[in-house]
Amino acid sequence: MKKFKALSVLLLLSMGILFNACNTGHQTPPLDRSNMEKSIDPGEDFFLFANGSWLEANPIPDDYSRYGAFEELRQASDEQLNSLVADISADKGAGQGSNRQKIRDLFNSAMDTLAIEEQGLSPLMPFLEKIDAISSKDELAEAFAYFHLRGTRPLFSLRAAQDRKNTEMNIANLGQGGLGMSDRDYYLKTDSRSKEIKAAYEHFMETIFILAGYSEEQAASARKKIMDLETRLAGASMTRLERRNPHATYNKMSEQELKDLAPGFNWEIYFAGLGIEPEDLNVSQPGFFREASATLEEFDLETWKTYLRWNLLRSSASFLTDDFDQAAFDFYGRVMSGSKSQRERWRRALGSVNRGMGEALGQEYVKRHFPPEAKDRMEDLVEHLRSAFSERIDQLAWMSEETKQQAHKKLASMNVKIGYPDKWTDYSNLQINDQPYVLNMMEASRFNTIRNLEKIGQPVDRDEWFMNPQTVNAYYSPTMNEIVFPAGILQPPFFFMDGDDAVNFGAIGMVIGHEMTHGFDDQGRQYAPDGNLRDWWTKNDATRFEELAEILVDQYNNYVLLDTLTINGKLSLGENIADLGGLTIAYQALQNKLEQDGRPELIDGYTPEQRFFLAYAQVWRNNIRDQELMRQINEGPHSPGEARVNGIVYNLEAFYQAFDIEETATRFIAPADRAEIW
Ligand SMILES: [Zn+2]
Repeated sequence: MKKFKALSVLLLLSMGILFNACNTGHQTPPLDRSNMEKSIDPGEDFFLFANGSWLEANPIPDDYSRYGAFEELRQASDEQLNSLVADISADKGAGQGSNRQKIRDLFNSAMDTLAIEEQGLSPLMPFLEKIDAISSKDELAEAFAYFHLRGTRPLFSLRAAQDRKNTEMNIANLGQGGLGMSDRDYYLKTDSRSKEIKAAYEHFMETIFILAGYSEEQAASARKKIMDLETRLAGASMTRLERRNPHATYNKMSEQELKDLAPGFNWEIYFAGLGIEPEDLNVSQPGFFREASATLEEFDLETWKTYLRWNLLRSSASFLTDDFDQAAFDFYGRVMSGSKSQRERWRRALGSVNRGMGEALGQEYVKRHFPPEAKDRMEDLVEHLRSAFSERIDQLAWMSEETKQQAHKKLASMNVKIGYPDKWTDYSNLQINDQPYVLNMMEASRFNTIRNLEKIGQPVDRDEWFMNPQTVNAYYSPTMNEIVFPAGILQPPFFFMDGDDAVNFGAIGMVIGHEMTHGFDDQGRQYAPDGNLRDWWTKNDATRFEELAEILVDQYNNYVLLDTLTINGKLSLGENIADLGGLTIAYQALQNKLEQDGRPELIDGYTPEQRFFLAYAQVWRNNIRDQELMRQINEGPHSPGEARVNGIVYNLEAFYQAFDIEETATRFIAPADRAEIW
């Protein structure tokens, strides 16, 4: 739902005891030596050296496609949220219309499988009848608006976001979409894996139609029509790589220009259905909308109605009976990611509450689990990272003074948010009650979509957050020029309230540096200090940056993971730059801190530098299934955990020194061939 996306780091964490109000006193050591495999030479495979024993002892559970530190912490957070929801459910004082009543009813409607089985498809009948009754292309446009408001997204998406060239204001953004597979390439590529995925998708589609009452012939015919349509749309869609260019996806136009670009669609009826009157819009992929308009004219109304039914059933499947739910899991979980069984239902129900009314749950969560001292400690760490980054900028040999001044300005004006928002979302207009699960989820979509659409043409609210407080992740927003760290990530093994500096700088310090560096990666560097998409680089410096980035692109293009499978260096470039910069800056910050406070004694026999790199490697530990690895490489942008460690550390001289690694080591990179940007 919150599509704040691409730039945020997908952080892999580890469990340990979480600090919270009811901490039992048992502490996980900041660095877990029992995870290590000391028989491995750190110069040969640092990822395995730091994590080998853990990887061996923790095979992937059936209901996971990958399992690592992140999943462990997510599981532990789920337990906290579950006990919170249990208390909320038992609260007799949760008045009608209160957030607590809505959390309770949404969660319970997701858990009540008896009611869900008994209801069958009946909750969706009025919506299917609405589709049946469509008798013209104008009514189709009205139906698109109706379903876009309710979590079903045929053909394209529309949402409010900051105007990239006038970041004080929000603007309507039209984006390509309407595909049931998660990437256009799966429709178009002919390698065996893509063919396997496509066949499974077709099977999924027929299964869903048969469950909805179609005969086998009808289902096969519907499947064929939809595949023809979606394949056309896929062919007109921008690739993930093309979408990394923020200029290519910025095409501001008037409503009239949009009508001229895509005349096959009744935009007036559509906008009226959404209740908006956009003066101008950003059309992210004009080529896609031109082609979508052509398909609207070429494909007959019956095909579009079938496509609409498919979109409705597909987006609702997980909230319906077990048959529908399993069919969706078979494709999205089993085939795409290699999972063997569904996640426990209560965990998925919590996921629905997080998606539908995440800040309401988050508000309760931080009251119980986020100590105010953590915020102070974090603010201190962020300022250490900011000064270290500033020093690094001064030291850059490749950048001119002129560009450095601008870089300093951008770094100094970068806003920081920690823990949870100052101002909470008001859920009074959200109508959650004891109705069927699928209807509660549609209502949550309607509420959240309208909340977003109301921002069109309005000034930007700088207090807004695009992640829930309980989320175990962090993000950088280029248009806000801000870094955001939800309470969920401020726990071990990222953040240790009482841990030593070496470990905190290697874990959460690196995360802070990573997010800061996103402001200076191949995409982020194109945005000015005020968040506007505006070039602040001299031509020469921009060229030097691209040459340096190319070294990292080449390194990752040659990083072999599975047989001949390699990472896409260009698609993952922003994340890899952020990892390299983040680790470099965090290391500098640690050195500054050690100089200021004096060097501590060895802990467990390790120097602060060794503990710093080990803490970094340990947060990225995970085992991953082959299917999920392939999916992650195709869809990016993050490199797999192993490559986030081994792809980065061998570029750092400080790493070689910390572990006394010789030039003869397997992974040794000659100084001239190392990547170094920030
Ligand atoms: Zn990132």
